[in-house]
Amino acid sequence: MRVFNFSPGPAVLAEEVLQKAAAEMLDWHGSGMSVMEMSHRGKEFIAIADKTEADLRSLLAIPANYKVLFLQGGAIAENAIVPMNLLRGSSVADYVNTGEWSKKSIKEAKKYCNVHIAASAEDQNFTYVPARATWQLRQDAAYVHICTNETIGGVEYHWTPDTGDVPLVADMSSHILSRVIDVAKYGVIYGGAQKNMGPAGLTVVIVRDDLLDRALPITPSAFTWKEQAEQNSMLNTPPTYAIYIAGLVFEWIQAQGGLAALERVNIAKAKLLYDFLDQTSFYRSPVRSADRSRMNIPFKLQDESLDAAFLQGAGERGMVQLKGHRSVGGMRASIYNAMPLAGVQTLVDYMREFAERHG
Ligand code: PMP
Repeated sequence: MRVFNFSPGPAVLAEEVLQKAAAEMLDWHGSGMSVMEMSHRGKEFIAIADKTEADLRSLLAIPANYKVLFLQGGAIAENAIVPMNLLRGSSVADYVNTGEWSKKSIKEAKKYCNVHIAASAEDQNFTYVPARATWQLRQDAAYVHICTNETIGGVEYHWTPDTGDVPLVADMSSHILSRVIDVAKYGVIYGGAQKNMGPAGLTVVIVRDDLLDRALPITPSAFTWKEQAEQNSMLNTPPTYAIYIAGLVFEWIQAQGGLAALERVNIAKAKLLYDFLDQTSFYRSPVRSADRSRMNIPFKLQDESLDAAFLQGAGERGMVQLKGHRSVGGMRASIYNAMPLAGVQTLVDYMREFAERHG
């Protein structure tokens, strides 16, 4: 029996995706081999990679002047790869600090440039997104970096900041493909695949053409976006199986009706849980309502001594990975695209029952 998996990532994948991968495991489309066994330069895999990229372009309506790269190293590696690729001609970059993942990006960028914190939500324990009007941006910055969904804190941008001529760079790891976005408002979008796109091991980078000429000479070739773009992300051996699974996920998203349709479901799922959290005093959500994430929903039990019993009861009912991040404690329900509404309903029903029993 499959559980309801609330893991922040690697995370739940749609059952249809796993079944298709299982059915194609030994013999992909009559090729006589598994995708894992294919040469990345063979016609079979090239067809898979091309379709995967085309489907992602179509889902996100990525304009023609953007490159899509399938790389490795995860978002943590991109924290270094971003500055290395954008700092030629400027040694300063602006960062907005909305929580744990922003902090990691900032810490890494400091190795490469003069980092200026344009705005920070630290004053309120990272429970909100600072309004654009409060940001202090520098005209000579090479870029402005934001994390559009803080996976640990559960804070999400529900708007896109205007940074004028300075390119906006976004770590979208934990909410990419959960909602419609306007790619043209960003210079660079990146994210690890292991939440809404597929398995761990694949990093997706979407970068505007005119930003490809700004890499520092020290940038490793495998991490130089321009070189990877010129070689269709095959300068080195790409994470072939992860790309294939991501392709199946993209087909699954299309079958759900695309991003607008998924976004409606994601809004309904998040509303179900937040509405419940707001009408009980047994649990509480720490995040300001306007900035609450639809993907990662942290919550606390008023009486923390009940945490272990709560998690145990959830496990007995087939709900796993609800423990909050060690840095914030409490609980966190990650409800990515592949978490069905029924999973969130089961959680809310259990939370209500648990509160009645212990309240
Ligand atoms: N940024 C965000 C927003 C994340 O959620 C994560 C992973 N949880 C990372 C960066 C780091 O990703 P990775 O471990 O794939 O490098």
